[in-house]
Amino acid sequence: MQRIGILALQGDFREHARAIARLGAEPVEVRLPDQLADLAGLILPGGESTTMRRLLADYALLEPLRERLAAGLPVLGTCAGAILLAREIAGEGPSPLGGIDIVVSRNAYGRQVDSFEADVEVPALGKPPLHAVFIRAPRIVEIGPGVEPLARLGNGEVVAARQGARLALTFHPELTDDLRLHQYFLRQIVGRDNASGAA
Ligand code: GLN
Repeated sequence: MQRIGILALQGDFREHARAIARLGAEPVEVRLPDQLADLAGLILPGGESTTMRRLLADYALLEPLRERLAAGLPVLGTCAGAILLAREIAGEGPSPLGGIDIVVSRNAYGRQVDSFEADVEVPALGKPPLHAVFIRAPRIVEIGPGVEPLARLGNGEVVAARQGARLALTFHPELTDDLRLHQYFLRQIVGRDNASGAA
C-alpha cells in the first residue's frame, strides 16, 4: 500500500487523509521529522501559510522536508501548501520550501471574492471539468519554462502547476467528492516514481 504523508501541523489535513484513504492508500500524519521516513509521497494541505511556515521551523521540519523534496519525494500542495512549494511569494521573497518554479501572490482574489467555486478544465483528467473550491486562494502570477500548467479557469488563468514529481493547486480538491486529482497524484506521480515499491 502506498504510504502518503500528510503534513498535520495546521490546516485541513484530515480532509486529505480521508481522500487518500478512500483511494486505497495509507495516510500518515506528519508532525515529526522521523515521520518522513518510508513515505511514497507527501501532501501539504491548505490552511495558513504564514502559520505553517512558523510551525515548520518550530517542529524542526524545514530542513528534513527540504532534503526529502530535493531527493525527489513526490509532493502535492493545495492552496497554502502550494504557497510553500512556490519558488517565490510576491512581495515576501522566497517561499519556505520551494521546488516549483512559480511565483504566487497570496490572497490575490481580493476581499469581494475572497472565496469562490468554479469549474476548471483539467485536460489530464478529461471530462467533465473539475468543480473547484477556492478559499482565500493565491494566484499563480509567473510560471517557469519547466512547469506544466495542469488546470485553468475559464479565463485561462492557471490554477494547477506540475514540475516533475511536484504538484501545486491553488484550490481544494480535498473539500469535494471528486477525487480525480488525488488519484492523478497517486497514479501518475507517486505510482510512476515508485513503480516498484507500490505493492
Ligand atoms: N490565504 C492562505 C495563505 O495565504 C491560504 C488559504 C488556504 O489555504 N485556503 O496562506
